[in-house]
Amino acid sequence: MTFKETEQIYKSKSQAANMGNIDYNTNTQKNGENMGENSFFWENILAWYSENGRHHLPWRNTKDPYRILLAEILLQQTHVRKVQEVYEQMLLEYTDVRELAMANIETVKEIIAPIGLIYRAERLIKTAEIVCSKHRGYVPNNYNELIKLPGVGDYIANAVLCYAFDQPVVPIDTNVIRLFTRYFGYKSMNRRPRMDKVLASKIRAHFEEMDSTRAANLAVLDFAGAVCTASKPHSMECPISENCLDLFSRKHDSH
Ligand code: SF4
Repeated sequence: MTFKETEQIYKSKSQAANMGNIDYNTNTQKNGENMGENSFFWENILAWYSENGRHHLPWRNTKDPYRILLAEILLQQTHVRKVQEVYEQMLLEYTDVRELAMANIETVKEIIAPIGLIYRAERLIKTAEIVCSKHRGYVPNNYNELIKLPGVGDYIANAVLCYAFDQPVVPIDTNVIRLFTRYFGYKSMNRRPRMDKVLASKIRAHFEEMDSTRAANLAVLDFAGAVCTASKPHSMECPISENCLDLFSRKHDSH
């Protein structure tokens, strides 16, 4: 294929993806080529994840909603590496949500101090109090109730629903957005892409029909954090580089 032909394919795919004329989602494919794009993406991302994913993280080896909610609140705006120790310390001190509801705020602040944002101590205790008083000690398994808890936004609510309750929902953060906008060539019209509902629904469409939304979410999260990084993505070692629109456009720009 000549460079001109490849360029034409890139342009039409990128335009179509952004106009919503095509989705790479297997469910709404109109032609075999797009079906291949989505399959290629997932086959390679899941294979990469199986070899390289952070399967050892303690909150990934539990379905306990309390532990998952605790981990997600601690992970907010914090590097995973730093959170593990604090998470384990919190669980030693407060084994369940009732114990956390009765925690001394100064003790919680002390435990989470190494990861900063210690205002989360108050939110953690308040959230545990509400779970105990309004939900009989059970973390709610629906979005509308989860989102009312202090410190729980759209991302955490979806993460809890997916990782604790196996619901087929997709928590979308900047990592997820970065990978999908680069690879599939989506653009956001919103200055804050995390607030872009149209973009979010395009991304979510790619997860439909996945056997395990949980595995797909974790794979995307790890892949975006390790390979498709914010600065200097490792495109030369990337297993999906051959179909990546961002890489194609960078090569094109350098000509
Ligand atoms: S080729 Fe580069 S930009 Fe594209 S998905 Fe891979 S790492 Fe990300």
